[in-house]
Amino acid sequence: MVMYQRKLDVRYHTDVLIAGGGPAGVVAALAAARQGKSVRLIEAHSCLGGMGTAGLVPAFMDFTDGVNFLADGIGREILDAVRAADGAIPFRRSIGIRTEVLKRVYDRLLEDAGIPFTFHTQLVDVIVHEGRVDAAICAGKTGLFAIRAAVFVDCTGDGDVAALAGAPYEKGDPDGNMQPGTLCSLWSGIDWEEVEKSESAGMGNDRITEAFEDGVLTVEDLHLVGIWRVGATLGGGNIGHTFGLDGTDEESLTEAYLWARKTLPQYERYYKAYRKGFEDMELAATGSLMGVRESRRIVGDYILNVDDFRERAVFDDEIGRFSYPVDLHPARPDQGAYEEYRGKWVNLRHEDGESYGIPYRVLTPKGLKNVLVAGRCVSTDRSMQGSIRVTPGCYITGQAAGVAAAMSVPVGANTRGIDIRELQARLKGLGAYLPNCHV
Ligand SMILES: Cc1cc2nc3c(=O)[nH]c(=O)nc-3n(C[C@H](O)[C@H](O)[C@H](O)COP(=O)(O)OP(=O)(O)OC[C@H]3O[C@@H](n4cnc5c(N)ncnc54)[C@H](O)[C@@H]3O)c2cc1C
Repeated sequence: MVMYQRKLDVRYHTDVLIAGGGPAGVVAALAAARQGKSVRLIEAHSCLGGMGTAGLVPAFMDFTDGVNFLADGIGREILDAVRAADGAIPFRRSIGIRTEVLKRVYDRLLEDAGIPFTFHTQLVDVIVHEGRVDAAICAGKTGLFAIRAAVFVDCTGDGDVAALAGAPYEKGDPDGNMQPGTLCSLWSGIDWEEVEKSESAGMGNDRITEAFEDGVLTVEDLHLVGIWRVGATLGGGNIGHTFGLDGTDEESLTEAYLWARKTLPQYERYYKAYRKGFEDMELAATGSLMGVRESRRIVGDYILNVDDFRERAVFDDEIGRFSYPVDLHPARPDQGAYEEYRGKWVNLRHEDGESYGIPYRVLTPKGLKNVLVAGRCVSTDRSMQGSIRVTPGCYITGQAAGVAAAMSVPVGANTRGIDIRELQARLKGLGAYLPNCHV
């Protein structure tokens, strides 16, 4: 044990500090700035976009419920901007992403909005007093410094801010098992016309067992997500799993990067030998951020649960609606768990035009007055985290958290002191899909 004590400069003062610049953070920053408050964003990595850029996640899941545009408002603006810059490639039921285009779109949106942000800036601690965070302690290339803000929005994906400030959280199932990660990858040399021609190519697990029995794959992981088209001959791979990953532990993360890099050549052999159109593929890159599907779920004033999904719940304090199915990758490469996964995937889904409500209370961590959480770590049970975690879902919670953070500033930086009808009205003003709010 060492004792480490020192005085830190408060380098910045801002109304709203956004920690983490993934999809939730970018949208939260824009939404807060549009309410006329000063906003600053800090990002630990080297670009905006989190899993969707640095993590090389290859696709946007559906923004709609088949009829209605759910991630409307800033989410739609981002999609439109990516499309206009030729960064979105329609692929089966989703949209392949050119990640370099998405990075530039995020950069431009924040720059145009005049929102200051820095990369290589990690929030490592908070100063908290009676449920109120006074300052964020940040580690940058220049060393340690502090940022004071009235309201903090935790968009770290892992709930770092809320957890450091003492909010309760859950992780995984009762035994702590979490969804595996995936180090996403970028492949060149794919003949997409040939892939499209070949019935079973592109996605599907039909020959995985055969490849395992042939010794091409060393883990019988039946759950192969697939490769998305992300360019003329480029493919974004969401293939392989890093089982036992804890995205809040650098040792576990390191082990996962090493395992994923070691095993990707197995998948290369699999695609080349067992699938048509992939014969000439070459690995161009792996993500510079591990793809973490699940870590902390911060416990808020309400825990969105799977019954809400089943019942297409409507909430008085609704801030958005979503409908992506429960997509909870099995924690182990186990055939029984995989069958259970497929059962949920098939059964826990809505008909076109149906969705579940997201209440404001999933953004308010218990016990904290001036902290909101958005993105994949909002307050849900495990099943619902498997739905709300995809990018359009993060845009919805990010947008609401940004507006709510700005509204909280003049009411004593109290996130529970805002007028919910006014929040809904402002969200509607941004274009949010709120069919049950008649404000
Ligand atoms: C393998 C994989 C495949 C996926 N596939 C899809 C898909 O096909 N379609 C889809 O729509 N969604 C997909 N998702 C889900 C989606 O990409 C993520 O859940 C989503 O990006 C989460 O957004 P977020 O903003 O909450 O967190 P993140 O995207 O994780 O962003 C968090 C950001 O915060 C930064 N950060 C973390 N801690 C700190 C800190 N302490 N201080 C400062 N910065 C910090 C990180 O560097 C990161 O940039 C996938 C996810 C994974 C992991």
